[in-house]
Amino acid sequence: MDIQAAVLERPEGTLSSYKISIETLELEGPRDDEVLVRVTSCGVCGTDRGCIHGIEPYPAPGVLGHEGAGIVEDVGRSVTLVKPGDRVIMGFPYCGVCRNCRGGQPRYCESLGTLLFSGYRADGSSPIKRRDGGALAGRFFQQSSWSTHTVALERQLAKVPDHVDHDLMGPLGCSISTGSGTVLNELKPHPGSSIAIFGAGAVGLSAVMAARLTGATTIIAIDKDERRLSLARELGATHTISGSDRLAEQVKDATHGGVDYAIESTNGSNLVAEACASLDMLGICAMVGGAAPTAEVKLTHPDMLQHGKRLIGIMGGGGQTPAYHLALMELQAAGRFPLEKLVRPYAFADVNTAIADSDSGDVVKPILHMN
Ligand SMILES: [Zn+2]
Ligand SMILES: [Zn+2]
Repeated sequence: MDIQAAVLERPEGTLSSYKISIETLELEGPRDDEVLVRVTSCGVCGTDRGCIHGIEPYPAPGVLGHEGAGIVEDVGRSVTLVKPGDRVIMGFPYCGVCRNCRGGQPRYCESLGTLLFSGYRADGSSPIKRRDGGALAGRFFQQSSWSTHTVALERQLAKVPDHVDHDLMGPLGCSISTGSGTVLNELKPHPGSSIAIFGAGAVGLSAVMAARLTGATTIIAIDKDERRLSLARELGATHTISGSDRLAEQVKDATHGGVDYAIESTNGSNLVAEACASLDMLGICAMVGGAAPTAEVKLTHPDMLQHGKRLIGIMGGGGQTPAYHLALMELQAAGRFPLEKLVRPYAFADVNTAIADSDSGDVVKPILHMN
């Protein structure tokens, strides 16, 4: 079938050059374990922008988008969990058969890198092509949902209840679950504890909203952008720290010695060392922000060892499952997880404006609307 999709190209052949334009492409029907989704909306995430700007890997020409929401139009022969007409969001893909998938940790699927960034199915095929037959990487996060239609894996879908605005929920597929899941599924701050969140983008602000749902009594948001810190306070931050200098010292000053938990959510700033230094004894730092494949972290060995600190990597908020997505949807509908405050809607045709507004920091979470 014919679809409209936002195609990324490298007109000068370099990673720094890019052009995104909406094109008519051909999409094939769903395979046995796949679902055809009419995409109604899709978020713009830091990882899309990382790929556009050549920081994270993605082949061009190709289609990005990995926070898609939409309506099921057709299902493959073995699909049982959804049917045509169901409203769904598309989350992280996973293979379902490797050691970690079978062990209940699909975020650490052994094929995750290929499934997210290769632009192709695990067997190397792409469900979309140009009308002249030209190949395209059409499987970003196995969904490439900057598109009016896509085919995705049944197991990466979560159904959306009738009373929930499904077009607001696409970002649960990545950034919103990454920030909130790190707090609610992994760190689980204890009553009376303190948490410092480095970076107040969609991931960091989701962590702030999640921390407010726990017994943590000190929630510190850190960013260079005062507008985002203002929003962080509105969403539940008890303290904010502005700028990029002496961050660990400022956190320690605000907490009489350091925090119990820290989250590094920046996309490329790599403040992991600063976040670890801001911990109190026995504190835990979670690194969750995307970075270049060659990015390194340098820590002070005695500080980590003698103070019993821990540093952990967390992908996609850890336990990101359909049940977790449903929990966030119900919390949002009940007014306890106001993710709508992060969002600005854009028409699909304005995809380049949405990217630019996200790059500049003017908008936390653009959502493209396909109709
Ligand atoms: Zn797997
Ligand atoms: Zn993302």
